[in-house]
Amino acid sequence: MKIIMLGAPGAGKGTQAKKIAEKYSIPHISTGDIFRANIKNGTELGKKAKEYMDQGLLVPDELVVDLVVDRVGQPDAANGYVLDGFPRTIPQAEALDKALEALGEKVDYAINVEVPDENIINRMSGRRACVACGATYHLVHIPPKTEGICDKCGKELILRDDDKPETVKKRLDVYHDQTQPLIDYYTNKGILKEVDGTVDMEIVFKNITDILGE
Ligand code: ADP
Ligand code: ADP
Ligand code: ZN
Repeated sequence: MKIIMLGAPGAGKGTQAKKIAEKYSIPHISTGDIFRANIKNGTELGKKAKEYMDQGLLVPDELVVDLVVDRVGQPDAANGYVLDGFPRTIPQAEALDKALEALGEKVDYAINVEVPDENIINRMSGRRACVACGATYHLVHIPPKTEGICDKCGKELILRDDDKPETVKKRLDVYHDQTQPLIDYYTNKGILKEVDGTVDMEIVFKNITDILGE
């Protein structure tokens, strides 16, 4: 099962993608996580990506596409995967389709998690991410058991630099401009599924599994 998560920054793509990956035993592939790991390890890719990420801009397609095409070709992705944060532009979607087509494969579902812009700033200012394992929480909606500490691995939780309100506004503009057109792209392919992302995360997940099946 090959699944793409669509939605504004903070819509809950990562939260749902992690649950999907667990339930269906497929890898969760997050381009944001890959870039953040590269930044942490001080790689060349990380240095380049950071310049864009800090400004709320997208990393250029040429730095993203090969990386994802390579990742989905790894053995653990043979039975499918859930892509979170990719594609984010029409050229990225086209490049993915082309790469899959060459293998006789295709994306099965594009799930759009819908959350209005008004809710996004609040979502992001409350988001806390684990420095070590990438687990995400929300101060109000999905709090960790102990304040500031990851439930899963015990390490520190931080507010991402790009989750500050000024940068979030920019990211929302970029989303509407460059990523939202993917909704039409996947509608035209007949694989777009919409879910309401404003309800409790367990209800969002139930609605997603109703679409994907047991
Ligand atoms: P969010 O979870 O809030 O949607 P991500 O963690 O997916 O954010 O991405 C963080 C940043 O990493 C983006 O703002 C962008 O700069 C960069 N990024 C991630 N995925 C892509 C992509 N597919 N194309 C271009 N830039 C990307
Ligand atoms: P994305 O990957 O789309 O950027 P995240 O999954 O990181 O979004 O979620 C953004 C923030 O909203 C996080 O703090 C997360 O804990 C919280 N969140 C996710 N789903 C819900 C939900 N259904 N209701 C309330 N808060 C949520
Ligand atoms: Zn952790």
